[in-house]
Amino acid sequence: MELNLNAMRASSAPAEKQEAVKLLVLGSGPAGLSAALYAARAELNPVVLAGLQLGGQAALTHTIENYPGFPDGVGGPQLGELFQKQAERFGARVEYETAESVDLSQRPFQVKTYGKTYLADALVIATGASPNHLNVPGEAELTGRGVSYCATCDGWFFKDKRVVVVGGGDSALEESLFLTRYASEITIIHRRDQLRAGAILQRRAKENPKIQFIWNSVVTEVLGSDAVQGVRIKDVQTGEERIYPTDGLFIFIGHTPNTQIFSGQLDMDERGYIRSNMLMETSVPGVYVAGEVTDSTFRQVVTSAGMGAAAAIRATHFLEEHS
Ligand SMILES: Cc1cc2nc3c(=O)[nH]c(=O)nc-3n(C[C@H](O)[C@H](O)[C@H](O)COP(=O)(O)OP(=O)(O)OC[C@H]3O[C@@H](n4cnc5c(N)ncnc54)[C@H](O)[C@@H]3O)c2cc1C
Repeated sequence: MELNLNAMRASSAPAEKQEAVKLLVLGSGPAGLSAALYAARAELNPVVLAGLQLGGQAALTHTIENYPGFPDGVGGPQLGELFQKQAERFGARVEYETAESVDLSQRPFQVKTYGKTYLADALVIATGASPNHLNVPGEAELTGRGVSYCATCDGWFFKDKRVVVVGGGDSALEESLFLTRYASEITIIHRRDQLRAGAILQRRAKENPKIQFIWNSVVTEVLGSDAVQGVRIKDVQTGEERIYPTDGLFIFIGHTPNTQIFSGQLDMDERGYIRSNMLMETSVPGVYVAGEVTDSTFRQVVTSAGMGAAAAIRATHFLEEHS
């Protein structure tokens, strides 16, 4: 007897959970939670998929002193909690899930998490970007305690201290020049014998008496228990290792936007940042972006939050016109 096994399996398998939402926000950093706040106040009952880092990168830093409205600064994780609380007050719902795949080929857009599919009439993508790491021992443990990926954010904490900068591109030099406002001594460690950065930046860095270079070298370990005390450096030509004392380590070896799951479905630049216009629109109508997933220039809480608000406002208009 021929049995319809597929039909039997389908009827015995647990029904896949599905939920239809008007607006789905991917990411719970400053951009995502600001988008959620604006969408909630527009009565869209947005759902936010938090991803692995609730509060986003901002939650990784001890204190944020340049977000307006907090004259005495605010803890990074605390700011994330405040963003969340404010969005939830107006009806946003934060789910501790990660978007694993998306289908943006038609509306409603499909977003799959582990065990659930969201069907969204509009989408705000705010999945941010991750600074590239050295992936050496001590780096993760001492992040926020001397290891930093943001000079604008953390430079002030190194007033009159010695810092090491890793990198040889524009951002490594720009950030090093910025750090000369605070640090007494900046040592740029670069794995080659010449820099990739533009000529003007190179000249300014080389002429700055606070900046010195260690060439052909890589950092192989970050040393310290509660705070950074030094780095282990290896000369890539001789293989020789030595310990270099420092109070801080700034790593500028590029950022990677968290856009892998959108690959092939949205226009992106050559580095993988999602292309958008001033209205935070992407190449797919109804899909908006905000924050570091589309912005490789400003990379601040205030700018990301602003883009989140803008994206939600435009998504609200879109839904009014397309419902
Ligand atoms: C150590 C450090 C200190 C900093 N200090 C400051 C400072 O003092 N002042 C300042 O203005 N800026 C600071 N910044 C920069 C600031 O944190 C970022 O500019 C800002 O957080 C970017 O916001 P965003 O929402 O665009 O992205 P992110 O903050 O990167 O948030 C991305 C969000 O997306 C989520 N996500 C990722 N993938 C998925 C997925 N597949 N599904 C669902 N969710 C996903 C993540 O979990 C996260 O919640 C600092 C950054 C760092 C790393």
